[in-house]
Amino acid sequence: MSVLTAAADRSVCAPLPVLGRDVTVPLVTGDEVTYAALDYAASAPALQRVWDDVAAYAPYYGSVHRGAGYLSRLSTDLFENARKTVAEFLDCRDGDEVIFTRSTTDSLNLLAATLPADCRVFVFETEHHASLLPWREARVTYLDAPRSARQAVQTLERALADRAPSPSSQLRSSEGGPNGPALVCVTGASNVTGELWPVRELAAAAHAHGARIVLDAAQLAPHHPVSVRDLDVDWVAFSGHKLYAPFGSGVLAGRADWLREAEPYLAGGGASRRVTRRTDGGVDVEWHETAARHEAGSPNVIGAYSIAAACRVLTEAGFASLVAREQNLIRKVRDGLAEIPEVTVLSLFGDDAPRVGVISFVVEGWNSSRFAAALSAEYGIGVRDGLFCAHPLVRTLLGSDPQTQGECGAPETAPGEQSLHAIRVSFGAGT
Ligand code: PLP
Repeated sequence: MSVLTAAADRSVCAPLPVLGRDVTVPLVTGDEVTYAALDYAASAPALQRVWDDVAAYAPYYGSVHRGAGYLSRLSTDLFENARKTVAEFLDCRDGDEVIFTRSTTDSLNLLAATLPADCRVFVFETEHHASLLPWREARVTYLDAPRSARQAVQTLERALADRAPSPSSQLRSSEGGPNGPALVCVTGASNVTGELWPVRELAAAAHAHGARIVLDAAQLAPHHPVSVRDLDVDWVAFSGHKLYAPFGSGVLAGRADWLREAEPYLAGGGASRRVTRRTDGGVDVEWHETAARHEAGSPNVIGAYSIAAACRVLTEAGFASLVAREQNLIRKVRDGLAEIPEVTVLSLFGDDAPRVGVISFVVEGWNSSRFAAALSAEYGIGVRDGLFCAHPLVRTLLGSDPQTQGECGAPETAPGEQSLHAIRVSFGAGT
């Protein structure tokens, strides 16, 4: 700890060749240079085998679903095979769609754009902003932070049971009964506390009340197997760059009906099957019904390919051994932090809650931003500080006023004051 009392900007930096380029990283002790990125929850480094697979394919990529040439046909095959690999990785049901997107944020916004009229949305205030915010066009009920997994289920059950009848309930005999359609959005593992949410139980509660559920698996999928069938969720969303693949791709997978009935998320080539000019001067469009409906434009074939490569590597490695290794690391980090009296680890569900390798804490007397900067400068340990795009949750955990200012990743101003931000270490496969 004592070395952290040094000012963050006192560090000595040295160039280190990373992927053939010199980047400046901290020189830690003596001549030894170390750099540890313990920020997997933000973006996990791609696994070597994923890089290898992508590098082998990269020289050959071509347009998808568009060309007659060899490279185009190869890329189309790889793209569609990537869809199958992801469907297997997620243990999808027959008839489920796998749509390639840019990220979890994109996936959830896509789903939000396909909600049926009068759909009610239920979301815990503890969600990452990607799952908290896309539903603004719908009637959203924000649920208070539960303090246990059991309370989460009870809170959801109560809210669903109390929901008012849909305005068009007389007309709507289909899904959701007299209360109309409803969607629950829940994260599988918190990006702040690492705690696992009771997804299966929440899904059962949602279905018992005629609602559907989408699982934000951005933090769950890199650490645990996610089975759409077994968890009985209607959709699942995740990001490639958290699943040890490079940036730029994500997935929305699940039930086809709402997706098929909605207007395309993006309008353009690839989503349209037939476009004709009308006699009145306008155009008529017949949209595709399958995943292509929401994948207009040239797809990110390398992104899809790299997600599939990561799915293959994780499946081959086997989650059982990855989980065992990670749980061991979690224990070590938590035990180490517990020995430091100034440290408080943040938790919603308590110390015994099952969790993944995401641990947030505050250090008494320390400004979190300066502490995180010092960890990088003095030890070469890259962590994250801030509110982690989950402002209401972090404020609840810190016991601070919900109105308190503080932006995602913005530095705090007063060194030594009670922290309004937290520090997060996160790790996973390959750490
Ligand atoms: N959901 C959770 C739980 C996350 O942790 C994140 C990112 O940190 C997201 C969604 C958004 O992911 P992306 O930025 O890849 O869209």
